[in-house]
Amino acid sequence: IARSTEVIVALDRELQPPLYAKRGLALVRGEGIWLWDADGRRYLDLMSNYGVNILGHAHPRVTAAIIEQASRLLSCHQSFASDVRAAFLERLLAVAPAGLTRAFLSNSGTEAVEAALKFAWAATGRRRIVAARRGYHGRTLGALAATAEKKYREPFAGLLAEAEHVPYGDIGTLTAALDEHTAAVILEPVQGESGIYPAPDEYLRAARELTRQAGALLIFDEVQTAFRTGAWFACQHAGVTPDLLCVAKGLANGVPIGATLMTEEIAAALPAGVHGSTFGGNPLACAAGLATLETLAVDSLIPHSADVGAHFLRRLRELEHPAVREVRGRGLMLGIELKSRSTPVLKAMQERGLLALPAGTVVVRLLPPLIITREQVDEAVAGIAAALDAA
Ligand code: PMP
Repeated sequence: IARSTEVIVALDRELQPPLYAKRGLALVRGEGIWLWDADGRRYLDLMSNYGVNILGHAHPRVTAAIIEQASRLLSCHQSFASDVRAAFLERLLAVAPAGLTRAFLSNSGTEAVEAALKFAWAATGRRRIVAARRGYHGRTLGALAATAEKKYREPFAGLLAEAEHVPYGDIGTLTAALDEHTAAVILEPVQGESGIYPAPDEYLRAARELTRQAGALLIFDEVQTAFRTGAWFACQHAGVTPDLLCVAKGLANGVPIGATLMTEEIAAALPAGVHGSTFGGNPLACAAGLATLETLAVDSLIPHSADVGAHFLRRLRELEHPAVREVRGRGLMLGIELKSRSTPVLKAMQERGLLALPAGTVVVRLLPPLIITREQVDEAVAGIAAALDAA
C-alpha cells in the first residue's frame, strides 16, 4: 500500500461522501509528537487528531497493552464481566469527581452524550434540554438537539428533541430558562468546536446550584476538555461535580471509546435494557484506556499540561501579532482568534510542518499531545508567528 499523498488523497475524496473539509494530507505514521505523511514529510502534531492521541503516537505502553489484549481476548459483550473492563472502570472512577461512581461505556463522544441525554430523560421523566449557544455535543439525533450550530440542525428540523440554547456564560438567562419541565442543562466547561471559550468558574457553579433548585440534572460534556486543561476534568477547576459527565476522545489514546459517568442516584433510576452497546466496554478499548490513564498518572501529565499550557498561552500572547484578536485557553486547549478566516494560517502552518485545527471560522485551535515539551512549544510559537506573517 505504498502510495503517494496525491493518490491517497484522490481515493479518499472519491470513495467517501463530501462531508469533511479535507486538508490534502495523507498521514501514514506517528511517533511521539511527530507525524509523517505518505511522501515522508514530518509534522509537529498540535492537534492530536481533534484531541484524541493525548500521549502522542505509538505510545509504547498503550501499544503493548493493545497487543497483549488483542492476543488474549478481543470481544466480551457487556452481558459478561471482563477483567480488563473492571480494572479500567476502577481506574477511571478513581480520578473522577467525587460522587460520580458508575460509568456507561460506549464508542465515541457523540454516544457518550446521547447516553447522558437519554439517562436524564429517563431518570427525571422530563423532556426539555437547556444547552448553550455555540455549544457542540455531536451529530446523532439526541446529541444534535443539544448542538447549537444552525447548519448542522436545519436539515433535520422537526426531528430534534426540545432544546433551548442560552448565551454561554450568562447566569441570568440560564436562570430564566430553567423550569419544571427541564430534564437537564448540558454544557462544555470550555467550548471547543466553536472557538475555545473557557466558562467562568462562577458560571459552572451557578449551573450546579440552579439545576439543583429546579430539580433538573447537570451534564458536563468533557469529550474535548477531559485530561487537557491542567486537571483530570475541567469541572474540577471550579469545584463542581455534575450529575452526568461525558468523556471520549483521549480516554484510550486513539482506540474508539466513550464513557458517561453518573451518580448513584441516576444509576438507580435506569431501568434494565433502557440503553446498551455491543462494542461499548470492549476489552481492546478498555486495555488501551487503562494504559492511557496509568500513563497520565505515572508520567505526571496532568500537572505537566497545566505548566506547559500556561507557557504556551503566555508565549502566544506575547506575540501581539496584528492579525490576532485574542488568545484564549486553559492547559493544552488553546485558541488563537484571528481578525479574519483561519484557513490561510492553517495552510501556512501545514506548509511549515505544523498541524493545527480550525474552530469556528476565525480561530486556530491547538490541542497538542500532553507530552509536548517547552522547547517544542517554543518551536511551535516561532512557526505560528511565521505562518501569521506569511498569511
Ligand atoms: N462533544 C464535544 C464537546 C466534542 O468536542 C465532540 C467532538 N468534537 C463530541 C461531543 C462528539 O464526539 P465524537 O466526534 O467522538 O462523536
